[in-house]
Amino acid sequence: MDDIRILTPTDLGTLIVELRTSGFRVMGPTRRGDAIVTAQIRSVSDLPQGVGDTQEPAEYRLHDRDDGAYFGFAAPAQSTKPVFFPAEEVVWRGRRDHERGGHFTVERDTVDAAPIALLGVRSCDLRAVQIHDQVLSARHFRDAHYTARRDGTVVIAVACSHPAATCFCASLGTGPRPAAIDPQTGQPSYDLLLTEVIDDAGHRFVAEIGTDAGRELADAVEAAKGTETDRAKAIEITDAAAARQTRAIDRDNVHGVLKASAESTRWEDVASRCLACTNCTMVCPTCFCTTVSDVSDLAGESAERHRVWDSCFSADFSYIHGGPTRESTTARYRQWITHKLSSWQDQFGMLGCVGCGRCIAWCPAGIDITEEAAALGRMSVLGSPASAAMT
Ligand code: SF4
Ligand code: SF4
Repeated sequence: MDDIRILTPTDLGTLIVELRTSGFRVMGPTRRGDAIVTAQIRSVSDLPQGVGDTQEPAEYRLHDRDDGAYFGFAAPAQSTKPVFFPAEEVVWRGRRDHERGGHFTVERDTVDAAPIALLGVRSCDLRAVQIHDQVLSARHFRDAHYTARRDGTVVIAVACSHPAATCFCASLGTGPRPAAIDPQTGQPSYDLLLTEVIDDAGHRFVAEIGTDAGRELADAVEAAKGTETDRAKAIEITDAAAARQTRAIDRDNVHGVLKASAESTRWEDVASRCLACTNCTMVCPTCFCTTVSDVSDLAGESAERHRVWDSCFSADFSYIHGGPTRESTTARYRQWITHKLSSWQDQFGMLGCVGCGRCIAWCPAGIDITEEAAALGRMSVLGSPASAAMT
């Protein structure tokens, strides 16, 4: 939609008020201690204004900024994943019904029906939401809770101007400026796209309209009209952000590299560093594996089934009768990176990685998915000697 608006910081506050008055639960970046997480935003003061970040392998630090930017940081420590796909949720509740002979009555749990406004979602995380839409909501068996939370979402995306050293979205085509159209559905990716601009002309947000709902929001805050010059400025900012990224994955070849690397000696190398701590899967915005946990009261009167995030790095995850099929860390790391970068493409027709870099920053051993993919690529070209079969 060819419509540019300019929001002032005051307009940003008004936008939040407008969304809340319209019944949306606004979820966006906010500071919790020494990290930026995604949580409920009640006013503009909840946004992490004046906060920047430093992200390196095994390092995440916040620092003050002197420019008053609201979005002057890269991917938050926590993505938007828990907004639609919580780390733990009740699937059903059961209770013993003494009026019916003591049989158990089971009821499915319902979700909070308030529509969600995603404010300040970054391009990588927006792409991750689109991936989850395909995995959890677009196939024959839908995840009922995810779909209910996702219905009616308004997306106010923010283009990245300050990528971290761990970011590599530009190489995967998932950022730092979000695609206007979801490549899987052909639907608009966002309702509004904001690019924060701070220069001699002042502090403002160039707003690009993605949908009629976005236009109504811009109208509601009486955002001023912008020009193509403003859009060019926004693109200049994200082009510069892309150019600053130093990490990359060769997205055209990585599928074949992983396929050719099943017996690579690199797996033993990375497994000697990997702690199998599961951090990478917990912070990853696309990982969606879960387990179930049943709890009951001591009297046997009530019970609940909880769905809980799980990880392919845990021994129990691949447990079938007799034991786990992936006993070694070698096999688990191979499974994880191969799924992310290769077999996910076979399964869902897209990459399972959006280049947010969280698995690099939050790995206590500083293991870097881009470095591992590059090493596998070099070794497959050179002809890595086969290692012993891994179990
Ligand atoms: S694999 Fe790593 S870089 Fe890729 S989406 Fe997951 S956390 Fe982000
Ligand atoms: S790669 Fe890093 S974060 Fe992932 S399980 Fe191994 S040590 Fe933990």
